[in-house]
Amino acid sequence: MLRTGEQERYANYGTLECNIASNRMPAHHVRTKCRLCSSTDLLPVLSLTSTPPANAFVPPELVKHTETAYPLTVSFCQSCTHAQLVDVICAEALFSHYVYVSGTSSVMVSHLREYAEEALKYAEKVPSVRSCPLFVCEFGSNDGTLLKVFQEFGCNVLGVDPAQNLSQRANEQGIPTWCGFFNSEMAERIKTEHGVADLICANHVCAHIDDFEEVLKGIKILLSTTGIWIFEVGYLLDVYTKNLFDTIYHEHLDFHTVLPIRRILPEYGLRLYMARRVNIQGGALRCYVQHDDSSPLPRENLAQLAEMERLEAAAGLHNSITFFQWEARISQLGLELLSLLTGLQNAGKKIVGYGAPAKATTLLYHFGITEKILSFIVDDNPLKQGLYTPGLHIPVLPVERIYDPNVAYVLILAWNFSDSILSKHQRFTEAGGRFIVPLPNLKII
Ligand SMILES: [Zn+2]
Repeated sequence: MLRTGEQERYANYGTLECNIASNRMPAHHVRTKCRLCSSTDLLPVLSLTSTPPANAFVPPELVKHTETAYPLTVSFCQSCTHAQLVDVICAEALFSHYVYVSGTSSVMVSHLREYAEEALKYAEKVPSVRSCPLFVCEFGSNDGTLLKVFQEFGCNVLGVDPAQNLSQRANEQGIPTWCGFFNSEMAERIKTEHGVADLICANHVCAHIDDFEEVLKGIKILLSTTGIWIFEVGYLLDVYTKNLFDTIYHEHLDFHTVLPIRRILPEYGLRLYMARRVNIQGGALRCYVQHDDSSPLPRENLAQLAEMERLEAAAGLHNSITFFQWEARISQLGLELLSLLTGLQNAGKKIVGYGAPAKATTLLYHFGITEKILSFIVDDNPLKQGLYTPGLHIPVLPVERIYDPNVAYVLILAWNFSDSILSKHQRFTEAGGRFIVPLPNLKII
């Protein structure tokens, strides 16, 4: 079970602020080398407005406190083409207590079941891996939702997660989980205690890890000779083509494409065996990695990887100019939205926001939408209600408040859920209210 709502919702913010205040760790550092290839040839290409950590919602008693805003600039590696943030907020602060719980999202639970089934089907094709029971290790294992599925299939499992609240919860539910970060030292410890892993999984966690080199070293140590490492990350091709620029915030350090991943893995004795696009969280990339010294890549895998890289190149993602143009496109949208909102406000219309996801922090800051424009934001999640948005301190209230008599316009900040929000709140539009959807194209409904 979750801790009480009060503890849960304050903890993330509290951990960060306390650790920084007590100087137990540097709050932030700036990388000078590419996270994948270590080149120093990093070019800042997309500058978004500095923000505090996007998920650090503020409890009422701390609302007078001013949070630090950190730069939010995407840099492009001119050596390997990898896009990344170089401003890094300390991971212990962001992840030692985590409020996102995989098991609470039915979409994520069924996604992870499909993931496990695919992984096992794939593993069955490798004869020497079939020596059941398989040992499956996952880092960033959250509450153990994925490992539970593997357990049901008869596998031995071990999770690794830095969030104390989540690893404790997983252990209580019978999913053995070590609390910590995955790196070469952790890999050695696991190998000593459990032996090598047939499958290593990592879902939407690699882009959160500043020291990716350590992860790759750890994989090399822990993966059995015929084992498979499957990792899933947000796909820059989707982020760019769908203009999901607000998914750029400090927790997401990397914006992955196939080309630089394929090129870097052999340096660590690994190789990208297969990759495919997955329709989750706006669009993701699922990569299959093996040791470099196994048999040659099948021709169809080579062709498929080449086709993905061709699509990335066609979108311009291997070229820094694309990012400068993207920045201009985002700024133009911001100007249009801000002028719409201030026009409505000057006409005496009350505007509120809908949805307080982490990405709203990026959008609000970058477009200059403050509490002077949005009277409040509503959110379906009771854990966020009663808190204030990071930095801007816009109050987050229950959803029913959009039916307050004076509310004329609702700006949908969780715009990827626009369809379900609109259908759930037809009553609002029928009563004369209007919704504003900011992305991917600005429209009023
Ligand atoms: Zn690089």
